[in-house]
Amino acid sequence: MSDFDVVVIGGGIAGVSVAYELSGTHRVAVVEAEAHLAFHSTGRSAAMFIPNYGYGPARPLTVASYRFFADPPEGLADGPLLSPRGVLWVARPDQVSSLGEIARAGEATGSRVFELSAEEAREKVPVLRLEVTGGAVWEPDPQDLDVAAIHQAYVRGLRANGGTVLTSSPVRSLARRGDGWRVEAGDATLTCRIVVNAAGAWGDVVASLAGLEPVGLQPMRRTAFMVAGDPAWATWPMVVHAAHEYYFKPDGPQILCSPADETPSEPRDARPDPLDVALAIERINEATTLDIRSVRSEWAGLRTFAPDRNLVVGPDPAEPAFFWSVGQGGTGIQAAPATAELLAAMVRGDSVPSHIEETGLDLEELSPARPALGRSRLASR
Ligand SMILES: Cc1cc2nc3c(=O)[nH]c(=O)nc-3n(C[C@H](O)[C@H](O)[C@H](O)COP(=O)(O)OP(=O)(O)OC[C@H]3O[C@@H](n4cnc5c(N)ncnc54)[C@H](O)[C@@H]3O)c2cc1C
Repeated sequence: MSDFDVVVIGGGIAGVSVAYELSGTHRVAVVEAEAHLAFHSTGRSAAMFIPNYGYGPARPLTVASYRFFADPPEGLADGPLLSPRGVLWVARPDQVSSLGEIARAGEATGSRVFELSAEEAREKVPVLRLEVTGGAVWEPDPQDLDVAAIHQAYVRGLRANGGTVLTSSPVRSLARRGDGWRVEAGDATLTCRIVVNAAGAWGDVVASLAGLEPVGLQPMRRTAFMVAGDPAWATWPMVVHAAHEYYFKPDGPQILCSPADETPSEPRDARPDPLDVALAIERINEATTLDIRSVRSEWAGLRTFAPDRNLVVGPDPAEPAFFWSVGQGGTGIQAAPATAELLAAMVRGDSVPSHIEETGLDLEELSPARPALGRSRLASR
């Protein structure tokens, strides 16, 4: 039996980031079901930082996360966590109206945006087919994230502060004991005052272990794969179809591709469907002269959304010693630092950190008690 102030359930980016943020002031343990941390969504992303992407509060949280990526605390990272990439949003001739919306949304997020002709877009990515490119929006600010280094930085900081990490420890029971919790995880039994639910696609499953009402999480499978590239293409931006039919970006000597699919799934170890890979190849070959014929590696991961697609961050209204950090969707890496800083402030009872407040973030939009989650028992309280 081990006693902690806080037990964080889930060793993906959401779990390790908030565990680190709390470890300076609290005795913290992270419990992870798998033998390796970051085995699920966190290890399967496209590794992008795009402020002009994501729903509602994910955008200000992404903007507020920049300072951690650009200047992480001393001793956490061995090298840069960001590197230049940029995003080129492209549309077919019949879809150019959507480019204006993307440009306006980018400006609202504070990003630099430039509307380009098809010819100008092809100067940036010479494989684009002019006849099917109606125009583009160029954003120079998005960057590549070194996700493994970011995750490792948090684990390193957590351990340096005396935090505990337990792998192969699925939480199977969560019971109220006095003014705290008794957590059974794998072979271990832990006691703590506060539980943080950072279980990704399994967030509602973990809540049900504590007897709490789910928030209605829906995991969505997304497919990605690598094809042969060319080191000479390494400086191309990421190309994202304006209606989210595909994206691709250089990744060293390879190209990372996706059909930008969203297929509802149970919480599970997601696997790619060959049809989704084939669809992406067809769409990218139609839009470019890449002439993709074979795939080097493929994978899938889950992007998990609440019903209104906003993150769910904060204390459960029925159980204030149970904090949620779920529903990260497709922005869980890029928004992780500020989300963790915010949640740690909530756990400590501190005010919202000033660099997050400055973004105009509306805490109600994140609340586990918000009406959009339709939690019946809570609505009657
Ligand atoms: C193809 C793809 C591309 C993406 N691209 C980007 C991108 O470019 N930028 C970006 O910011 N985001 C991107 N995302 C989204 C991002 O990967 C997720 O939002 C993020 O990883 C979610 O992190 P998490 O910690 O919440 O979840 P996870 O990484 O899934 O971690 C949750 C952990 O909880 C553990 N767990 C569950 N139940 C229990 C239990 N009972 N006991 C103990 N542990 C438990 C799981 O084993 C898991 O390790 C992408 C996702 C995909 C799939």
